[in-house]
Amino acid sequence: MNRSSAAVFSGIPSKVEQQSFEIPSLAPGEVLAKVIASTICGSDLHSLECRRKVPTPTVLGHEIVGEIVAFGSSDPMFDLNGTALSIGDRIVWGVVANCGRCFYCERDLPQKCENAVKYGHEPLRPGKELLGGFAEHCLLVRGTSIVRLPEEIPLEVACPTSCATATIAAALKPITRYEGRSMLILGAGMLGLTACAMAKSRGCDSILCIDLDPQRRELALAFGANRAIHPAELSEHTRELTDGKGFDYSFELTGANSSFVAALDATRMGGTIVSAGAVFPSDPIGFVVERITRRNLTIIGIHNYAPSDLLAAVEFLDANHRSFPFATLVTKWYTLASIANAFNDAREKANIRVGIKL
Ligand SMILES: [Zn+2]
Ligand SMILES: [Zn+2]
Repeated sequence: MNRSSAAVFSGIPSKVEQQSFEIPSLAPGEVLAKVIASTICGSDLHSLECRRKVPTPTVLGHEIVGEIVAFGSSDPMFDLNGTALSIGDRIVWGVVANCGRCFYCERDLPQKCENAVKYGHEPLRPGKELLGGFAEHCLLVRGTSIVRLPEEIPLEVACPTSCATATIAAALKPITRYEGRSMLILGAGMLGLTACAMAKSRGCDSILCIDLDPQRRELALAFGANRAIHPAELSEHTRELTDGKGFDYSFELTGANSSFVAALDATRMGGTIVSAGAVFPSDPIGFVVERITRRNLTIIGIHNYAPSDLLAAVEFLDANHRSFPFATLVTKWYTLASIANAFNDAREKANIRVGIKL
């Protein structure tokens, strides 16, 4: 085992090429993980189809479950729970490895670390090629937040932890109270479904989810939404559910401008809008700033997450994955060699997640 295959994206839309790289010798603090599986996130597709810029050539894939196969030194290493890590442990790790001492790390924003290594987003560099999930191995650099997975969490459930689940854990952090509060979830993809389930598990009993797709609306109900409707019906249901006042919290998880505008209209005075879906450039939108001021609105942008959110994500899945059909969301597994077919399938709206299993 001294070489590892990876699917390399060189910037040509929708094309990846299998390449083999030498497995680097590990520095102290580094870990080598054998990739067990990686699911394809919507943002992998945005990168692959050049809707947003990523440095190329690169190995995409950041929703990864791996198994520890080597450590860079014999010093003990611990996960975020303080558990000592061993060879053979099944783990997930944070999408951003951070330095802990730069401007943003010191300001409680490690996900924007100035010296970050971001898995699935790094240009190939000599000795640092294996930093994405669509490969046989992944090098975990120093500063990576690792969590050992409880054995009971199935692979299908565990894979999206380090992107979708942890992002939703971060997005829900501003909520201080769930009971008696109303939530609007815009979008019933992986993020929206996870948001419905997490809010429900924390005691929210007024969750309205909107999505254009009827199949996804069905799923939203299974994931804890009290109602799931077409966006065109939003104002009618807002009137009915909130006495016309609007939702306490709205979560924009689609990235569509029209969805953000809908959230502005449907959120109550003094309410909070969390924007976590818009992760690729779109046209500017116009709105009257006075509406934000006079309505005392809070608008929060959430991109990526801190180590504590990854831990919260694993804890949430461990406690709740049987209560919601998370295990059914990965509809198909492919081999690394047939990753092109996996990407084709991932583009279908009916497939919430498709993955690569090694
Ligand atoms: Zn992602
Ligand atoms: Zn930093």
